[in-house]
Amino acid sequence: MPPVSDDAGPVPLALKKPMKFADLGLSDELLAAVTAKGYDTPTPIQAQAIPSVLMMRDIIGVAQTGTGKTASFVLPMIDVLSHGRRRALMPRSLILEPTRELAAQVADEFTKYGVNHDLKMALLIGGVQMGDQVKALKDGVDVLIATPGRLMDLFERGKILLTGCDLLVIDEADRMLDMGFIPDIETICAKLPATRQTLLFSATMPPPIKKLADKFLSNPKYIEVARPASANLNIAQHKVMVSSSRAKRDVLIDLLREDDVTNAMIFCNRKTTVRDLAKALKQKGFSAGEIHGDMDQPARIAELDRFKAGTVTILCCSDVAARGIDVKGVSHVFNYDTPWHPDDYVHRIGRTGRAGATGKAFTLVAPEDAEAIANVEKLTGMQIPVYEIGGKSAKAEPAPTPREDKPARAAKPARAERAPRAAKPELEVVEAAPEPVTEASSRADRPKRDGTKPPKSEPRRAAQRAPVEEGDADVWNGPVPSFLGVSAL
Ligand code: ADP
Ligand code: MG
Repeated sequence: MPPVSDDAGPVPLALKKPMKFADLGLSDELLAAVTAKGYDTPTPIQAQAIPSVLMMRDIIGVAQTGTGKTASFVLPMIDVLSHGRRRALMPRSLILEPTRELAAQVADEFTKYGVNHDLKMALLIGGVQMGDQVKALKDGVDVLIATPGRLMDLFERGKILLTGCDLLVIDEADRMLDMGFIPDIETICAKLPATRQTLLFSATMPPPIKKLADKFLSNPKYIEVARPASANLNIAQHKVMVSSSRAKRDVLIDLLREDDVTNAMIFCNRKTTVRDLAKALKQKGFSAGEIHGDMDQPARIAELDRFKAGTVTILCCSDVAARGIDVKGVSHVFNYDTPWHPDDYVHRIGRTGRAGATGKAFTLVAPEDAEAIANVEKLTGMQIPVYEIGGKSAKAEPAPTPREDKPARAAKPARAERAPRAAKPELEVVEAAPEPVTEASSRADRPKRDGTKPPKSEPRRAAQRAPVEEGDADVWNGPVPSFLGVSAL
């Protein structure tokens, strides 16, 4: 009997043709806009979510940061919304984002992908004047992109009706949880028609998000994209041991001078540190900018634009202000402080090593960072090699154990730090607004990620939220997601 020829068997995975955007059922007008943006291959989450959204299914999409979740709802929404009519005060769809920056980024994608469609959008975020947005709402919008706090304000003042909203997106759900927005989201969900379509996206699925999904989604399609093989060695990580917090500034300056820094993001745990550091670096002749939660939206955007344009090459930032911001081609990430939430470490260092380029991440570890770095190493499952300034090779030194160096009480941020100041009053919207409200200022009792120490149980929770392991879901066939090239060199 002749042997069975090779080509009679299944197509080997490696030879499987990658899916194209054109295969997903999107309209020609939309495909033209996608092509104009320079994309032809959907990321795995896009390939799986888009056809289901078009079929009006509820979706739970779980995939790490940088995997293209935005287009996985923006694209099908544009086609879904291209049929139907706008009505005054009643947005047809609603996208909830945890921060102003992310909301603005999604709005941007809507504008770009929607160029060939007649869709109206409104952006409702804290820190920018609402006059135009309220006018847009009055005229009727197809898509409302909002942060939960601002939306609740407007709703409570009767400026908006959610009864005509047939499609809801809850984006970055785990961030919403971290920022204390789940009760607001529950309230908002209850105001939308029960028959609506709901899409929920998140990098992780901690239990409160599962509960939220169980309550507000109906028969959702669950899409999870696994972390791809850890073969992407494009971020070299180091930790630099420093004797005290006070010594960090000099060590950082040495690193900035010693290493081949083209442009860098420097993360601090506190807003005051961001401010002070940016000032100090400028005094030392570095071209530094800053972005943190106390700045209003236009100022943050302006600063970000300066960094993107290369006018400043160093950006000092806090986690919340920088979350989700997509700056390409950062050569270095410095953790001036080790982040208190270990998953922030992954988000921070993901700003470098993008698109095949090699990046470097340095974490300064003072005794008060010992517990935090131990949690990071537990989450990432590896010991970050120690780097010594002055060209000596990395020494395999163990990280200080948390017990030895209990963070001093003084390490806690001052109270004023924890409750961000309210933004400027919005002039045009509501005459009788009791107090100007930002996403966070009215919710000072909630846990916050910017300037607040996590509760004791946090490391355990964060460790449970570690991304799924490779091998238990899909093969990665799209662009390499930015943050996933995590490795020690
Ligand atoms: P996430 O929400 O999962 O963190 P984003 O939607 O913000 O990720 O996308 C991350 C980056 O990937 C953005 O710069 C985006 O423009 C880019 N991107 C998205 N889809 C594709 C694609 N199909 N091909 C190439 N790049 C893409
Ligand atoms: Mg996103």
